[in-house]
Amino acid sequence: QAKEEGKNNFRLYDSTLNPNAEERMEIKNSLRYALDRQEFVIHYQPQIEVGSGQILGLEALIRWNHPKRGLVMPGSFISIAEETGLIVPIGEWVLRTVCAQSKAWQEAGLPPVRIAVNLSGRQFAQNQLAEHIQEILTDTGLDPTYLELEITESMAMQDKNWTTLEELRKMNITISIDDFGTHYSSLSYLKHLPVNKIKIDRSFVDGIAKDPKDEAIIMAMLLVARHLNLTILAEGVETAEQYLFLEHNQCDEIQGYFFYKPQPADHIPKILREHAPDTFITPRSNS
Ligand code: C2E
Ligand code: MG
Ligand code: MG
Ligand code: MG
Repeated sequence: QAKEEGKNNFRLYDSTLNPNAEERMEIKNSLRYALDRQEFVIHYQPQIEVGSGQILGLEALIRWNHPKRGLVMPGSFISIAEETGLIVPIGEWVLRTVCAQSKAWQEAGLPPVRIAVNLSGRQFAQNQLAEHIQEILTDTGLDPTYLELEITESMAMQDKNWTTLEELRKMNITISIDDFGTHYSSLSYLKHLPVNKIKIDRSFVDGIAKDPKDEAIIMAMLLVARHLNLTILAEGVETAEQYLFLEHNQCDEIQGYFFYKPQPADHIPKILREHAPDTFITPRSNS
């Protein structure tokens, strides 16, 4: 019965968000073959400019089209891919697929937008990440200004990663800090980092209109971002109340179910044709 439901039901797989030992073992085994068997797909979630409602970017989010389990969400397999090191080839596949897709959409005449790719710590730690990415950009012909890389706060804070970050910024790639505010870290490191954008974590957005403390933290983040000349995006916006609060407090961009859920690639052309601006809008930079 579960198998039947699994075919078309995303939700079911939220139940494996914390897979047990047996499930993890099973996932680990089949994950090894998933790349060769072309079981991964990318969905894209639009990022909207507050006020204009225009789509300025998309976030690429991986899904695993498992032969028996149906569509498996990244929460169920990314940590396992990190443990096993499989995240390196998987991550490279994501980058290549996204750059090729982005170039193809542009060549089809769609308004160009930035596409953001999530990087894992393990990927960042590999040697010559910048060279690898340059190779992918050259192969696919994508202009680097259309590529954005999302890193976590903990990745951003490690000084061993800073040279790579500098290299990527010099290549004109946009760098954003994902899930901002969820790690115990000081704001002051923001002033040294070559980043363009911060993404307020969904857990704070959840508290809008419910918890004045979350609202206070969001307002502080918005203020810091504005003064450091960083673009700021709020993740996980689900309600009109949350949207209005963010608009009122001059958040730049939002991403969330209130506008769009992550979409399969073939839904994107129509969405971009109807909602993306004709000219590309360059992200801010504090460096
Ligand atoms: P993330 O990068 O913070 O991505 C945002 C997550 O929030 C996505 O979950 C997205 O579907 C979900 N989301 C967006 N809007 C809403 C909303 O309004 N409400 C709620 N409840 N959720 C919303 P998803 O796709 O399951 O991805 C989970 C995490 O997996 C991502 O979090 C990211 O850390 C990781 N991930 C996804 N794709 C990749 C990838 O290609 N490589 C790596 N290394 N990690 C990835
Ligand atoms: Mg992300
Ligand atoms: Mg996030
Ligand atoms: Mg995340």
